[in-house]
Amino acid sequence: MRCSVGVRCAWTGFLAIFLIAVAGCGGGSSSSITPPPPPVSGDSDTKADALLKQMTQAEKLAMVMGGVTSGGGTSTVPHGAAGWVPENTRLKIPALYLADGSVGAGNRVGQATALPSSIASAASWDLSEAAKYGTVIGTELADYGMNVNLGGNINLIGREPRDGRTFETKGEDPILAGKITAAHIKAIQAQHVIGGIKHFAFNDQESGRTTENVIVDERAGRESDLLAFEIGVKDSNVQSVMCSYNLTNSQYDCENKHLLNDVLKGDWKFPGFVMSDWWATHSTVDAANNGLDQEQPNQQFFGGLGAAVTDGKVSQSRLDNMVHRVLRAMYEVGIFDHPQTVQPIPAGADANIAQETEEAGAVLLKNANGQLPLNVSTVGSIAVIGWKADVGVLSGGGSAQVQPVGGGIVGPKPCPPCSSSQVIWDPSSPLQAIQAAAPAASAQFADGTDAAAAAALAAKSQVAVVFLNQWAAEGMDEPSLALTDFTSGMNVDQDALVEAVAAANPHTIVVIESGGPVLMPWLDHVSAVLEAWYPGQRGGPAIADLLFGVVNPSGKLPLTFPASDAQLPRPVTAQPPDASTPFDVKLDEGFNVGYKWFDAQGLTPLFPFGFGLSYTTFPFSNGAVANNLTASNPNFKVTFRLTNSGSAAGAEVAQVYLGMPAELDEPPHRLVAWKKISLDAGAKQDVTIEVDQGDSSHPMSYWDTGKSAWVVAPGTYTVFLGNSSRALTPVGTLSVP
Ligand code: BGC
Repeated sequence: MRCSVGVRCAWTGFLAIFLIAVAGCGGGSSSSITPPPPPVSGDSDTKADALLKQMTQAEKLAMVMGGVTSGGGTSTVPHGAAGWVPENTRLKIPALYLADGSVGAGNRVGQATALPSSIASAASWDLSEAAKYGTVIGTELADYGMNVNLGGNINLIGREPRDGRTFETKGEDPILAGKITAAHIKAIQAQHVIGGIKHFAFNDQESGRTTENVIVDERAGRESDLLAFEIGVKDSNVQSVMCSYNLTNSQYDCENKHLLNDVLKGDWKFPGFVMSDWWATHSTVDAANNGLDQEQPNQQFFGGLGAAVTDGKVSQSRLDNMVHRVLRAMYEVGIFDHPQTVQPIPAGADANIAQETEEAGAVLLKNANGQLPLNVSTVGSIAVIGWKADVGVLSGGGSAQVQPVGGGIVGPKPCPPCSSSQVIWDPSSPLQAIQAAAPAASAQFADGTDAAAAAALAAKSQVAVVFLNQWAAEGMDEPSLALTDFTSGMNVDQDALVEAVAAANPHTIVVIESGGPVLMPWLDHVSAVLEAWYPGQRGGPAIADLLFGVVNPSGKLPLTFPASDAQLPRPVTAQPPDASTPFDVKLDEGFNVGYKWFDAQGLTPLFPFGFGLSYTTFPFSNGAVANNLTASNPNFKVTFRLTNSGSAAGAEVAQVYLGMPAELDEPPHRLVAWKKISLDAGAKQDVTIEVDQGDSSHPMSYWDTGKSAWVVAPGTYTVFLGNSSRALTPVGTLSVP
């Protein structure tokens, strides 16, 4: 049964929304959301201006700050939203309900489909899969009555892969991250939910996130973190941008004139509104004048905005512009014309998308002697080993946490690092899924807390599948990429566990549930490794399908897996001296983030960016570059033939990288384009990948700080083609006059 918001549903807080969503429709007749105002013709800006003209000053001010809640905190925001802007009943402006949702509708709205981590969506390198991912988030938020999504975490965590929010992001490459994020956001906004992109900008570590002062030069910023945002903003028509907690070049990001007014609204012509991260506002006048349009979740500083306008410290036209931006966002995604209908989420269909995403995004890192896929008809006994692998798969914590359909399995409080968050396991049992995939085999379980018992089980089994996990969450960084930090509550040294099992069984397969890269000191001793990320609501069946070859792995790493912490630009994550003193983090690596750093430094990673195996092989041939390059038309095409030379259908991600003219001092090569191509066993395809300089990613340009512009420099460019950042063949050169 469906019930339309504003027609029949009573809104009495989180419990009500939860009951409504579960039961289909709540009782009662009161409503806080009224029908839309009479339509005004014209585009979103025209409509916003028409409405703005009718507003009193008090009504305008109410649009640019979080609604007051009875308790003063976010726990009392209606309907499980993380923040809100109350309805304007006189002018029939709907309330805004802001809810998290990076990896599924989160986190307090109620049970929702726990998708695999966003990093898994990025690892699919597939924009159509990413669109489905965004549709799930947008649909479920709308079904809970939410109309603003606080998702789109695009921080370039590759600078600091130990960041506890890596799982929410899209990896280390600005173009891949920007394109995947844009695909998510477009799909979310198609559900009449204002999309968001965050945390603008350089919020690349959680340690000291409110006091960190990032020092970065303009060119480095424009070609790295800012480029990811630029693509995300321009390609998606996103209507909200969340400014971050940290400072950039000594100015808090939520009052950073350069970032907000000059870059975002000036250069990129972002037409929507900038909202603060939660309590990230630091001033009234500077924040408003420097580009912040909405304080969330409260009115600590913008409560004084009316007085600042009266005093002439903030102009009336600036306040009007702030309101205009919020209203135009609402028109642009159809909030006036399409009030949300509160109804049960399409849990079944969305769980299928969760599984599909995991199957497209899990990355096969090692497969010695064709260990995988397992053969259902010949495998007789399987040891399934690992903490909670009998009941569920790990999820990431913090504001991106999703309460999975069916209820999360709450793990012990992790200690260390003694975060206040709980560890939640999505209820999808790998053990059961493996048993279901191989009904004739005997699948036996050991939880891994006793390495000797696990090894004994492995010794008497044909194969051993070891599930490793590394929990991560907002508000913390991993102390190391090593798996020995016990964060999931398991309290055993997982590296030692793998060594013990591998010593007992030469057919040891490791499945890693992590938010990002981990170290693998045991790599040479195991036969196969699958990086499953946080696999989501249907992680168990997805992993089983991959292990048994029902699905051929096609994911590619969206970030580098280092061989050690020492290889990172900062071997130890920069730490704040105390809770309140700003501390500098100098991004000396510049635009050399992730693989660009490894390439520029000549370091050999454990697994490179773009890498991922398949159960088949895909030789490239006939690679060539076609172009008519002129200074004004530096577009080009890469053509090649891809062959599936194995015996299984599969998909390959063909990656095009560009080596810039040496005098520009750029990294050896940068990803500029890619295509994921599916081929049946034995099939061939002639493929063309176009690289368009007019694209938001400025593929052939560098940022000329003097000209404050993207510039295509004269010189020789080398075009590379391959299937990872370290498996490339030059296929031609380009000469720009
Ligand atoms: C996080 C944001 C989140 C907000 C609201 C903040 O702590 O940094 O990503 O959207 O809380 O939950």
